[in-house]
Amino acid sequence: MACETRTTCPYCGVGCGVIATVDDAGSVSVRGDPEHPANFGRLCSKGSALAETLGDDGRALFPEVGGQRTSWNTTLDLIADRFSNTIAEHGPDSVAFYVSGQLLTEDYYVANKLMKGYIGSGNIDTNSRLCMASSVAGHRRAFGADTVPGTYEDLELADLVVLVGSNLAWCHPVLYQRLAAAKASRPAMKVIVIDPRRTATSDIADLHLSVSPDGDVALFNGLLTHLAETDRIDQSYVAANTTGFSEALLSASRLSMAELSEATGLSGMLIRQFFWLFAGTERVVTCYSQGVNQSASGSDKVNAIINCHLATGRIGRPGMGPFSLTGQPNAMGGREVGGLANMLAAHMEIENGDHRDRVRRFWSSPRIADRAGLKAVEMFDAVADGRIKALWIMSTNPVVSMPNADKVKAAIEACPFVVVSDMQKNTDTARLAHVVLPATGWGEKSGTVTNSERRISRQRPFLAAPGEARPDWWHITEVAKRMGFVDAFDYESPAEIFAEHSALSAFENDGLRDFDIGAFAAINQKQYEELAPFQWPRPAIGATKERFFADGRFYHPDGKARFVPVHAALQPVERAHGSFVLNTGRVRDHWHTMTRTGKSARLSTHLAEPFCEIHPLDAADQQIRDADLVKVSDDKGHFILVRALLTERQARGSIFVPMHWTDETASRARVDALVPPDVDPISGQPALKQARVSLARH
Ligand code: SF4
Repeated sequence: MACETRTTCPYCGVGCGVIATVDDAGSVSVRGDPEHPANFGRLCSKGSALAETLGDDGRALFPEVGGQRTSWNTTLDLIADRFSNTIAEHGPDSVAFYVSGQLLTEDYYVANKLMKGYIGSGNIDTNSRLCMASSVAGHRRAFGADTVPGTYEDLELADLVVLVGSNLAWCHPVLYQRLAAAKASRPAMKVIVIDPRRTATSDIADLHLSVSPDGDVALFNGLLTHLAETDRIDQSYVAANTTGFSEALLSASRLSMAELSEATGLSGMLIRQFFWLFAGTERVVTCYSQGVNQSASGSDKVNAIINCHLATGRIGRPGMGPFSLTGQPNAMGGREVGGLANMLAAHMEIENGDHRDRVRRFWSSPRIADRAGLKAVEMFDAVADGRIKALWIMSTNPVVSMPNADKVKAAIEACPFVVVSDMQKNTDTARLAHVVLPATGWGEKSGTVTNSERRISRQRPFLAAPGEARPDWWHITEVAKRMGFVDAFDYESPAEIFAEHSALSAFENDGLRDFDIGAFAAINQKQYEELAPFQWPRPAIGATKERFFADGRFYHPDGKARFVPVHAALQPVERAHGSFVLNTGRVRDHWHTMTRTGKSARLSTHLAEPFCEIHPLDAADQQIRDADLVKVSDDKGHFILVRALLTERQARGSIFVPMHWTDETASRARVDALVPPDVDPISGQPALKQARVSLARH
């Protein structure tokens, strides 16, 4: 008899509910879960092809040391010994974990607990650093905590949705479908897309602003100035609930309209149209994603957007607010448990002595990291220069996805001890590891994920794990126990870890009085198995507010939000003759480095090979024709070879190359090898969208 399991899609931050059916012959089919509040039955191409990506092809099936199969006991003993000995000889900061938004919350929790509370270093960072660290920094500066105020329903309730640096149609397809459906049923609703590229998302836009790369701060500063000049500031809200408005306005008002036009690359007419629409519409949601976050000024971009919402009091109310869209399925869950090098669990801060003390006492741990650890780019620099001598990489492929990817590859090759836990045996990173641990994957593992609107959903198993694959939380706890931390890591199941996470969130925490954050501290196995999707934190019984900031109270000590003065570049950076701005990103039907979506032939029919989008006039200047092989190179001698795709969707002077293809799936298309390791100084997030490259027909 066919067996149905309710679970959650493992790809993007929309977090769609999936019903997986295994028939009598063992075949798997999937459909959208009509009862899941993120998608109400919808799935995109990636989600609907999930069954085609299952199977043992390419899987890591057994622990391996030096390429040879070993037993779990031998392998776990080796990892514990090498980490313990390295720490004993060189100190806790000589080791590091690089983890992933693909991990489930329970995996993330124990990895963070081991590194920060028992090893005593902050050196755990995550590929979510590449995804939304600038949003975290922006939220903390403005709100006093990394809190996402919006919900998906807000997009449907809004009269104006502004999408900044977000190709929603390809990167969050089901949310795009919800937005498109809302606009179709309410044609007066307006959509503005702010993006250097005219992407598929622009198909439903009333206005597309092809802003210069990094012109966003200038644009939103200009908007704040316009709101002030046209008497659209909500003075009573600003006075009662915020501080710093005058300073932010002073900073924003530095550019004339002519300078604004130059800094943004937009005509005065387009800029005014945007300002009028924003100023004249009460229900506005501004969504932003990687085009905002993956920038050397990402945190300032986030605060420039938030400033405009605070100035108009359009936050904490239905159909209004700034809304960060996370890329990964569990970037939010990782944030909740402190997966970033500068954070502790439950939004507590590693630099705050009271927070450190509270977490250490809750864990009864022997020590706690006393300062922030190395952020992703810094971490691989430390691997390269020998400060990190033992590295454990979990469920991610930094040899492909990190900026300066060739240097990252060389650093991993030279590191004395590297462990990789992954589903796949032969990723570009796993091939360099001394130890490979076989991890369970989607359909085999059990735990929770948190989507962009803070909705926690269960991932449930419906397949047996292949070979000797085991879940990540088990790998980590077994190593921790072998390092001597037996009692603290003596978990029998993810349910126990989830309960501890909930208990820690509530421990001596009276700042979230309207929310029942300890609700799951005593959750039992049966309740965990049956857990229905819900938004975290869950409102307390009898609470008067159900959404963050509904009462105008924020998480700074005085309860007020902060305007953050941000400075726009006066004009775009000059390009040398023949050089282009390289924008990297996703395509519709592939996910990250294609270790899963690459298994579906159907998903490769949309875009079968890596390519470089070029404006036809730029291509003509370079004597490049459609489908020519082109060489994209940086000034350090790195290059990739990709197929030219001529399209007027691409702005002149910039090109786009997707980030999915690797040395394994196509020769010389590892585009992040061309991206320099420039980071936002506040968030540490790499600027993955503004590399300078040159272009030539090959
Ligand atoms: Fe999965 Fe995202 Fe597609 Fe939903 S929109 S099915 S979460 S990839």
